[in-house]
Amino acid sequence: MSGTKPAVNLCDYIRDIPDFPKPGIVFKDITPLLANGEAFCASISRLACHIPEDIDAIVGIESRGFLFGAGLSQHGCIGLVPVRKPGKLPADVHGIDYELEYGVDRLEIHRDSLSAGHRVVIVDDLLATGGTVRATIDLVRQLGAEVAACLFVVELKALGGRQRISDVPVHSLIAYD
Ligand code: AMP
Repeated sequence: MSGTKPAVNLCDYIRDIPDFPKPGIVFKDITPLLANGEAFCASISRLACHIPEDIDAIVGIESRGFLFGAGLSQHGCIGLVPVRKPGKLPADVHGIDYELEYGVDRLEIHRDSLSAGHRVVIVDDLLATGGTVRATIDLVRQLGAEVAACLFVVELKALGGRQRISDVPVHSLIAYD
C-alpha cells in the first residue's frame, strides 16, 4: 500500500442549490470548497499553474473572485486589483456598462490601479454566459493593460462563456456540460 494521499477531487466540494437566487437557476455553491482547507488550497495551487511569470497583477471580480484572487496573490506574491459593482470603490474610477439578459449592469475599477503595458490575470469563481468577464476584459484593456489569461474554478460549458472570450486564454478547474 502506498502512503501517497489521492489528489483532492474539487467536484466533491461544489454543491448545487436549485432555484437560487431565482426559480430555474441551479446555483453552484463553492462555500464547501472554501470551508475545506485541503480543497481550497488545492484550488489555489491548480489555478496558480496557469499564471505566467511576467504578471503585474491579479484582477479579482466582485465578489467571489476576490476570494480566489486573494489566494492567488498571496501564493505568487502578486498584487490584487478589485473590479467592483458601482459605487463601491472610493477613488477615481473607470466604469463599463454591460448587458444582462434583462437590463444592464456596470463594473468599475480604480483608474490608477493599472497602466499601459501591465499584464494581468483575471479570476472569478465561475464562468457562465461570460458577460461579466467580457466586461472585465474590456475594462482592463481600456486602461491600456493586457489580459494574459482568465481563470475560473467552475465553468458551465452549456452557457457558452468561453466562446465570448475567445480572444484570451481561458482555464477552468471544473467544467460541467
Ligand atoms: P456570467 O456573467 O453569466 O458568466 O456569470 C458569471 C458571474 O455570475 C460570476 O461572478 C458567478 O459568480 C455568477 N454566477 C452566474 N451563474 C452562476 C451559477 N449558476 N452559480 C453560481 N454563480 C453564478
